Amino acid sequence: MEDISREKLKPAIELLAANHSDYESEIQDLHGWLLNSQAQERHRMNAYRVSQSTAIPVDRLIRILLWGTQKSVFQLHWQQHCPHCNMITAEYDSLAASSGESYCKMCDTEYSVDFKERVEVTFSLHPSIEELEIPPYCLPPRSLKPVAQLSMARGEVEDAEFQVSPGVYRYYCPITMSMGKMHVEDKEGESELEIHQLADSTFNPPEIHISAGQVHLKAVNETVPISGLIIHEDKLAHPIPFQDLELHLNGLEIIHYPEFREIFGDDALSDREKMTISSVTILFTDITGSTRMYERLGDVQAYNIVRDHFQILIEAIQNRGGTIIKTIGDAVMASFIESETAFRSIFEAMDEFENYNSQKDDDHRVNLKIGIHSGPAILVNLNDRLDYFGSTVNKAARIQSLARSHQIAFSEEILGFPGIKKLLVSRGMRKLLRRQASLKGLSGSHPIYFLSLENAPA
Ligand SMILES: [Zn+2]
Repeated sequence: MEDISREKLKPAIELLAANHSDYESEIQDLHGWLLNSQAQERHRMNAYRVSQSTAIPVDRLIRILLWGTQKSVFQLHWQQHCPHCNMITAEYDSLAASSGESYCKMCDTEYSVDFKERVEVTFSLHPSIEELEIPPYCLPPRSLKPVAQLSMARGEVEDAEFQVSPGVYRYYCPITMSMGKMHVEDKEGESELEIHQLADSTFNPPEIHISAGQVHLKAVNETVPISGLIIHEDKLAHPIPFQDLELHLNGLEIIHYPEFREIFGDDALSDREKMTISSVTILFTDITGSTRMYERLGDVQAYNIVRDHFQILIEAIQNRGGTIIKTIGDAVMASFIESETAFRSIFEAMDEFENYNSQKDDDHRVNLKIGIHSGPAILVNLNDRLDYFGSTVNKAARIQSLARSHQIAFSEEILGFPGIKKLLVSRGMRKLLRRQASLKGLSGSHPIYFLSLENAPA
């Protein structure tokens, strides 16, 4: 890192550490890592990769990076990745500027952006500290096993030796998005290749025919600040499975950080944009008999109880990585990345309510009815906040309305997730009931499961 950037970084880091003293040692570790890092390591930081290098737990690191955006230490970037080749097809500095559709020049395909599977969130140092002239890029998943991988600064020539078998190969630069096709014929021979990076984001030649066997490659870049050349067989899965990608911070994950909501709460999608989410878990809760409670206790006392209830519930949800989407009267809608954490948070809340209720008489107790469902949804902007839309949300709400006091109702989809059955056994799964139910506004009949919690009132 250049001296001038080091000098600017130091007071910024000190300010961040002073504001978050509980995180001081991790902030210093991150500072040390930044000072010793390579430019390409910090120009778009993958929080998981940095967490591995620094041994800072990833959730704590992400919080530090988020707080850093508030103090102009870091900048957050939204990147959209092609579902076919995984290259970055667009990058935005705000969600409000993001489009729900993206185009991959290399694959010549337009795709609808899945907020979980195709959106990555990265961080760089704030431009007031350091501005690197490297465009955003990403490497292909390791599962593609490239036969060659080179990088050339302007004016450089790089050599590579490798073997190829018959088939079609892609050669491309993830930085300039230049691409060519190499056809390897079914006959043996030795080949000399020369590939030039051109200024207009193309390669010369754009297409190559060679024999199978040994290849001597010369890659030349005389035109752009930096160019890469990756060659692998043109056998791309479509879509490329999410689990084949390097571990990274995805869009769905970042919006589940309360710190994100605090800092970027206003940065919703623009009115007309929407993004799909392959899977999200939706939780609805409501207080049993709240109308009666207001009648019996009067508005002021009832309101105090409702407020206590929100405090207990919201804390339990956020402790487990859930996020509150909205409250509707006494009802809460929250989302989770995993179903298991939805159950864990609600169990934690129920334990707290049991404790709360044990100190109150009948009139002042809080009992909840809960519904959980998981499935695809659409992320939208509703009243300038992020919200979910679609049949998964409707179904979760309908399922909740079937629950009775101290009961969790949930869909069959939920039972299919790993870890759920084991978790339920530990919480008295023997009380699990299954019932076919029709859900208002949804066709057909649906198997719904009901879990009555311990110490449920009669
Ligand atoms: Zn692509």
